[in-house]
Formats: sequence, structure tokens, C-alpha cells
Amino acid sequence: MAKPVRRYLIAGNWKMNKTASEGVDLVGDLVLAVGKTTDVTVAVCPPFTCLESVGKALEGSTIKLGAQNMHPEPSGAYTGEISAAMLRTLFVNYVILGHSERRQYFAETEAFINKKVLAALEGNLSPILCVGELLSEREAGKTLEVVKRQIDGGLVGVTAAQADKLVIAYEPVWAIGTGKTATPAMAQEAQGAIRHLLNGHLGAAAGTKVRILYGGSMKADNAEELLAQPDIDGGLVGGASLDARSFIKIVQAAQKQAPHRG
Ligand code: PEP
Repeated sequence: MAKPVRRYLIAGNWKMNKTASEGVDLVGDLVLAVGKTTDVTVAVCPPFTCLESVGKALEGSTIKLGAQNMHPEPSGAYTGEISAAMLRTLFVNYVILGHSERRQYFAETEAFINKKVLAALEGNLSPILCVGELLSEREAGKTLEVVKRQIDGGLVGVTAAQADKLVIAYEPVWAIGTGKTATPAMAQEAQGAIRHLLNGHLGAAAGTKVRILYGGSMKADNAEELLAQPDIDGGLVGGASLDARSFIKIVQAAQKQAPHRG
């Protein structure tokens, strides 16, 4: 049986950076360089305040739009929050959920993140569910235990039929924004274990369809080696996505690897 081909996804997480006009400038450069790409899926996840203008600037290109968070309820008294349906009206395709910064600074629990994953899928968005261990957890040999807890907790109620839309991002917390990257072998070990968990939750046929991204100081000079691993299906890129040239180089590294998939 041929190996399933999971098309690479390179998604930029801008975090709390870029005004609307700065965002439009940045994607202007991306559209020129990689805006017709079909062998790799490219997405940008700007702050909520940029979604509309960046979405307009992406029109006519293949680059997709993502958000960085959402609330699980469809509407109501949740001051400061945004629903899945609101994101869809802005032509958003992806939403980052359970990022370690949300877990750490906003005390998001597995149960709350799970509600968001289900609401995103229900609302026709692709959730990018982030998981990953702290440095202390890795040093204590607990990486796989932590990742299992986060995957099991995040995927309660997710069905095999939703596998096409689901994306997981393995992001070791100690590698995020630190310049320290997991070695390709470390990332593959964790991501291979995640694949095994996904197969258990969804069945092997569906589990093999889910894209698992690596995130944590992915850069132009380490992307190719990471992307060559069998269970690394793309990258969730923070710092390097704020600079057009660096992000484009990561997309190009994925394009270079793409023919070797499957
Ligand atoms: C992230 O925040 O998702 C991330 C991977 O950040 P960085 O690339 O800056 O480590």
C-alpha cells in the first residue's frame, strides 16, 4: 500500500505583532513570492485586527488565512471573544488552539481547549491543536506522557470523518521563541508517538491523514532537515514568519522536500 501523501502546511503565527497596514505589506511580499504555490499549503495567522485587511490582500492567491484563537460558544456574553462563525465570515480556514502561550498566560485547560477544537470543526475551520512539553518535563523524561495527555484531552469527541481538517502542532515549549530547536530525531520521536496516538483515536486510515507540524524556532536553515522526517508535515512558524524573506525561505524548503513525500 502506498504511503499517504500529506501535503506540507507552513503556517505563520504572528502572535501579537503587526498592525493591519504592516500585515498587508508583509503578505504583499508573500503573495509575490509564493502566492501561487499549490504543492505546499501556506497560511498566515495574524492578530484578529488584521484578519479582514490581510484576507483582502490574499485574494486571488493560494495563501490561506488563519486565526490565533477563538471561543467555543457560538455567541453570547463573552466580552473580548470571537466565535468560529465570526472567523468564517472573514474567510478564515485555520485556527491555532491550545498554544503554549494560551495555556501558560491564560490558564487554558485541556477541557476548554477540547471544546474549542470541537467548535472549530463544527464551524468548518481547521483547528491547529498545539501540544508540547516544558523543559522540566523533557528533563524528567515525561515528554511522551505530557503529549499523550494533551492529545487525549484535546481530541475527545473528534471523529475519523474530521481527520482531513485536523492539524496537530508539536511545539516543545523550550524551543518556542528561544532559538533552540528540537533536533530532527527528537521531533520525529515525539511526532511519531503523536501519529500512533492519532491512529488509536481515529483509526489508522484517518490517523495517517492528519498533518502534524513542528513548531519551535523553525528557521530557513533548519527547516529542510526537519521537514525531511516522515511525521513532520510542515511547520508552525513564529518569529521567522514576521519577516517575509525568512518565511519565504521556509516555504521554499518545503517545496524542495515536497516531491520526496509519499
Ligand atoms: C510559535 O509560537 O508557535 C513558535 C513556533 O514560535 P517560534 O517559531 O518563534 O519559536
